Amino acid sequence: MRITFLGAARMVTGSSFLLEHNGFSFLVDLGLAQGNDEERMGEALPFSACDIDAVILTHAHIDHSGRLPMLAKEGYSGPIYATEATKRLASIMLSDSAHIQESDAAWKSRRSAREGGEKVEPLYTSADAAMELFQSVPYCQRIFLTDDISFMIIDAGHLLGSASVKVFFQEDGKEKSIVFSGDIGNTGQPMLRNPEYFDSADWAIMESTYGDRLHEKAEGNEKDVLYRRAEELAAITDRTFRRGGNLIIPSFAVGRTQEILYLFRIIMDKKILPYEIPVFVDSPLSVKATAVFASCLRDDYFDDEARELIEKGINPILFPSLTAVIDAEESKKLNLRKESAVIISSSGMCEAGRIRHHLKHNIWRSDSTILFVGYQAEGTLGREIVDGAESIHLFGEEIMVNAEIAILKGTSGHADKNGLLEWISAFSAKPAGIFVVHGEEETAEYFASMVSSRFGIKAYAPDIGEDFTFGSEFPEEGEVPLRRHSAKMLRPRLEELEKQKNEIDDIFSRLKNRVSAEDLSDEKNAERLGRALKRFSDELSEISRRWNGKA
Ligand SMILES: [Zn+2]
Repeated sequence: MRITFLGAARMVTGSSFLLEHNGFSFLVDLGLAQGNDEERMGEALPFSACDIDAVILTHAHIDHSGRLPMLAKEGYSGPIYATEATKRLASIMLSDSAHIQESDAAWKSRRSAREGGEKVEPLYTSADAAMELFQSVPYCQRIFLTDDISFMIIDAGHLLGSASVKVFFQEDGKEKSIVFSGDIGNTGQPMLRNPEYFDSADWAIMESTYGDRLHEKAEGNEKDVLYRRAEELAAITDRTFRRGGNLIIPSFAVGRTQEILYLFRIIMDKKILPYEIPVFVDSPLSVKATAVFASCLRDDYFDDEARELIEKGINPILFPSLTAVIDAEESKKLNLRKESAVIISSSGMCEAGRIRHHLKHNIWRSDSTILFVGYQAEGTLGREIVDGAESIHLFGEEIMVNAEIAILKGTSGHADKNGLLEWISAFSAKPAGIFVVHGEEETAEYFASMVSSRFGIKAYAPDIGEDFTFGSEFPEEGEVPLRRHSAKMLRPRLEELEKQKNEIDDIFSRLKNRVSAEDLSDEKNAERLGRALKRFSDELSEISRRWNGKA
């Protein structure tokens, strides 16, 4: 069995692994890269879609599922295995992603046209073809892909329907296994069960998003912790409302928004504040996702506390002062409201969507609060604000950051360092080697060395395009391996190189025109030509610097 690390390798997004065994090729996840990762990974699929025989999807988040419509568009017609909840969530998330791809491409095309460039094609415009390929699979059941390859999923406790995957295969008459952690959930998340663990594997591929950090440790049982978090949210809401401002919450539409609603329901239920809080969920996707959560209430996805509520006929994420905003006009009207309100909108990292309008109308106001409730990747607007930007650029304007910038602690959907170590401890038969993925470069490296020293397990943070054949020698910790980029993986880099070649040609022809125009016998002209040559060499070294940063 051979694995190629196609994404989320020394970065957080774009999760994708290609597995090949006895002529059978399948993927675990096929996510979209976001923020800075986009440039490193390139957009094109690094394989031919028709060569893939099956896909296993760990969960619906776009950084794990976002390129599935591209796969279908390029001719893939095999099954996409996922839980029923993942299928329902993916259906709304991927069609939303298709709209984003379309409008992004239209925007880029307009800009390109103004610069005399070419039209930019969207990655895909519909998710329907991909959705038709989904096949629901239950937790804890062995599913056979071929006679000698099978898999089983368990609850990863990260998002409704999320899974860790164990792949089994036969090698030299023996059964071997590889566990993919998927995204490992945080314990005590509202509604979701805590992550389940596999107890044996020959190898593991695990995430490391928070591999070098600890979430603030909360004392007490999970219910108390959750209530205290609701109290903290109430306090932030109260001080914002007392100032007369709005509480703006950029939130991932799927999962996090519903968790925040769960906390607001507790605040209302327990009457933590002496008044009703008007809460607006302003994102069509969030509203749809909330409906999907509600449609799964009777299924086996929720923790005991949520199930208790459901059995009493209480919907754990709905309350009377909650308003769903779907219509764009209604969304604009929110900015005209005189009274304070809570506005939960997406995208969670402020990269797109209605949240950008709410930021524009509120981030300059010292009475409002921007409350972050999730991970902010490097290179995103959300990260810029969290890192203390004094002003931000939105819709061509520079806008001052005067609002209170707050972070609701403990809301992470990912296990922290201890949670990740716990995941490894749970193996009674420890893996021979662990590939550490889905973490920023330094984090993944740090966590890999931590795994080696703590458990004596060989651990390694692979780079994009690296591959490994299970059973062969594991790369040593600290060893800098030869990057085995397959020819296919080089495509995005070659495209980049070609772009740079064109730039160089352009600079060169400008220089040449200059030479023919100047009279070289004139001393002054020679001086000017000298300066032009200097500029030429500066521009060349700038290009070479950029290329080195990428290669
Ligand atoms: Zn996720």
